[in-house]
Amino acid sequence: MSDDYAKAIPVTGPESVPYWEGAKKHQLVIQKCGKCGHHWFPPSTVCTGCGSRDINWVRSSGKGKVFSFVVFHRLYHKGWDGEVPYVVGIIELEEGARMLSNVIGIPVEDVKCDMPVEVFFEDATDTLTLPKFKPV
Ligand SMILES: [Zn+2]
Repeated sequence: MSDDYAKAIPVTGPESVPYWEGAKKHQLVIQKCGKCGHHWFPPSTVCTGCGSRDINWVRSSGKGKVFSFVVFHRLYHKGWDGEVPYVVGIIELEEGARMLSNVIGIPVEDVKCDMPVEVFFEDATDTLTLPKFKPV
């Protein structure tokens, strides 16, 4: 963990503060609608299922599956030098929300859709922790 993290740093907004604070504590938190029960990601100010503003932050199990993914074979950012190829996946959490992240800890050719994964946390800098996923 250091402040000279070489990869691009996510730009955070006010609606995502609880998400990043949860990640820092190694907890994956997502939004859940108090009206219809829908879970979603990325954070927003209204439910993406019904439009309600009755929003709660809840802790996800951190378990899910690879909904879809791509393998990056080219170096698009110098921060990834030495890590190509790598996987960027859409992870469908047990709660139903889908999020973009990396699938790590497995050769890229072994990543498959519907493969069970679980979250782990990469402390990228002293102030930023990134949820990523690995095979169960
Ligand atoms: Zn709703």
